[in-house]
Amino acid sequence: MKANEKETIIKLTIIGWWGAYPGAGQATSGYLLQTSQHNILLDCGSGVLGQIQTYLDLEHIDAVVLSHYHHDHIADLGCLQYAARVLMDLGKRETPLEIYGHAEDHHFADLSYHEFTVGRAIDTQTELQIGEAVFKFWPNVHPDPCYSMRVQSDNKVLAYISDTQWDDGLVTAARDADILICESSLYDEYKGVVGGHLTAGEAGTIAQEANAKRLVLSHLPHFGKHVDLVAQAATVFNGPVELAETGKSWEL
Ligand SMILES: [Zn+2]
Ligand SMILES: [Zn+2]
Repeated sequence: MKANEKETIIKLTIIGWWGAYPGAGQATSGYLLQTSQHNILLDCGSGVLGQIQTYLDLEHIDAVVLSHYHHDHIADLGCLQYAARVLMDLGKRETPLEIYGHAEDHHFADLSYHEFTVGRAIDTQTELQIGEAVFKFWPNVHPDPCYSMRVQSDNKVLAYISDTQWDDGLVTAARDADILICESSLYDEYKGVVGGHLTAGEAGTIAQEANAKRLVLSHLPHFGKHVDLVAQAATVFNGPVELAETGKSWEL
């Protein structure tokens, strides 16, 4: 390595970015986090299993970390468990796939599937280490239990704010993040009208107050012009704002 080349600590690739249901040939929430040692899938929404194979063979997924159990974040999980079974039967995978999620309701039991996948509990007390990546979790404000996550590897930080309405703690979750992936389900006109989700302006406010270096809007709505979300977030955030797009990636 040349002296001026820096080693990539974290690579993040958008696999799916729609809220609620996917657009044609696309996917709802799914983000591929890669360190030099591990491939970790954050959320496993509808369409993610097909999309992710553009970037990674399924046997190379080391772990899955789930924000919550709404369909647009877990719809492909059952098929991923079948994939783990098939890949172990074929000898392509030797160890069960670890799936991390909260244990606050009955869905947690579904994360374990015979000897092929194993569920592991997360909460705000958990500091989860997967190789070089250290996860911390923040409680969201959403109709069902849901967590945002902050992932640190060396001195690089990724924050993923999943489904939530405004909460001051989210700023702490995103503090000084190199990249903030933030749900932006709502245009600013819907602030205070629809609960459980953030407006683009609120996503921008989190990024600004947290001193995030970059803001990526995701979990996008099925109406309006998404470019307006960028404009609304940019009225409060001084740094770069962009929309999540399938396959878009960043190296930190
Ligand atoms: Zn949700
Ligand atoms: Zn959602």
